[in-house]
Amino acid sequence: MNDHYPLAHRLTIEWNKQLADSAFLHKYGGIPSNGIVLPRCSGCHEQYHLLFQIDLRDQSLNYLEITNTEFLFVISCLNCATYEKPIYYTLKNHKKIVVIKASPGKYVHEYPSPLEEHQVSCRKLLKNEYPHSNDGFYYDLPAKRGNHQLGGKPLWVQDEEHIKCVKCKRGMSYLAMIDTELHIGQNGFREKGHMFGDNGILYMFVCRRCGIFSAKAQGL
Ligand SMILES: [Zn+2]
Ligand SMILES: [Zn+2]
Repeated sequence: MNDHYPLAHRLTIEWNKQLADSAFLHKYGGIPSNGIVLPRCSGCHEQYHLLFQIDLRDQSLNYLEITNTEFLFVISCLNCATYEKPIYYTLKNHKKIVVIKASPGKYVHEYPSPLEEHQVSCRKLLKNEYPHSNDGFYYDLPAKRGNHQLGGKPLWVQDEEHIKCVKCKRGMSYLAMIDTELHIGQNGFREKGHMFGDNGILYMFVCRRCGIFSAKAQGL
């Protein structure tokens, strides 16, 4: 493995598969497993959308160095666009996700809560799939969206983003990027999937010291 291709995983939403008996509980949509409670958005008072739940019992993900939690959760209120500013949250006592700080925007009811639940496959990113370009911008990626990625190096839509932990004030580490993946039905409306602002990408960060996660999107 050379330096250009740090270990990364591709998450693929299996739109044609409801949740099945797979070894790990990687999934898109629905509500968290093991009775873990989703927080409510302070803007619309509905439950946050669970975009991804990644099962960290999957030992191939040990390199992410996320400990003391059985799942990695990616949450956002898609209707209040909480992804426009950094949101901070943590998993408390393995029982509930607690939002420490969020800035809900204007409410636009577009997405059901919870999102329809689907299986997610997680596999190592192949060299020829690794998103890279000379200048590190997203535009060089294949036109097909849905390039959700754990680990590796992010491609920034705008300038490289640095986020400070809301608790210890140290810099947080990049953890994942969640792409826009919107499927439009024949009626011209959203059939499945999600979009961050204007075809944006959501970047996930972690403070491993404090066990705090953060997410913020950049739009095209
Ligand atoms: Zn909301
Ligand atoms: Zn911290």
